[in-house]
Amino acid sequence: MSAAMVELRGVRKSFGPLEVLRGVDLRVAPGEVTVILGPSGSGKSTLLRTVNHLEKVDSGSISVDGELVGYRRVGDRLYELPEREILRQRTKIGFVFQNFNLFPHLTVHQNVTEAPLSAQRRPKAEVNALATRLLERVGLADKARAYPGRLSGGQQQRVAIARALALEPKVILFDEPTSALDPELVGEVLDAVRDLAGSGTTMIVVTHEIGFAREVADTVVFMDEGRIVEQGPPAEVLDAPRHERTRLFLSKVL
Ligand code: ADP
Ligand code: MG
Repeated sequence: MSAAMVELRGVRKSFGPLEVLRGVDLRVAPGEVTVILGPSGSGKSTLLRTVNHLEKVDSGSISVDGELVGYRRVGDRLYELPEREILRQRTKIGFVFQNFNLFPHLTVHQNVTEAPLSAQRRPKAEVNALATRLLERVGLADKARAYPGRLSGGQQQRVAIARALALEPKVILFDEPTSALDPELVGEVLDAVRDLAGSGTTMIVVTHEIGFAREVADTVVFMDEGRIVEQGPPAEVLDAPRHERTRLFLSKVL
């Protein structure tokens, strides 16, 4: 098997008595788009958050681009990496949140340049040029000097996508990127995500947009109660699901 870009093995995570991830195995190949579906509370956000070590796993392991996330292995023991190393790893893992999470006190342009300048210490001229290119790509060149509060939700989310891209990550994680948007703004954000998918970026996308999943996903994963119930190409999981729980879920969202 070729090297995975993202690999989870036996990932478990509890919050107190509640076991939210109950042994998750997942491989995402370089350039692939994986869409995760599942009911509210099934552990989708927690799963994404473990991938960039925003949540620590209780057991199991995660690697991104061949590197163990959050830990160093010495013999058969794992030691948590120092904060500085975790921040370095996170620059390889873009994250786009449901609620955009832009810096309100920075302009659109500054939102995009902040991490490459501070976390990656790249030259200012290079980063400025990159930000201009990325804002053009998401159709927001004319908003560079605006503050996020002045933008629509769809525009803010497109800035968040440009910001994630600015780190030139190996993988981008999207956690329900359109679910906080008014319906008429969903399309412009999905278009931006689709554009990335077409450009060969490795992505894991949690969404309830089944049409988008059908069109863009290489693999669709259905999660329920902290487990992957089934996964496969969209034509299988969406059109011929093997499990009753998948059928039930799809009958509610379609
Ligand atoms: P999903 O994204 O699929 O809706 P989540 O991963 O957000 O599911 O949550 C799964 C379960 O874990 C839910 O029951 C949620 O309430 C719980 N949970 C998530 N984060 C925390 C936390 N930090 N502390 C306690 N419980 C949490
Ligand atoms: Mg969630």
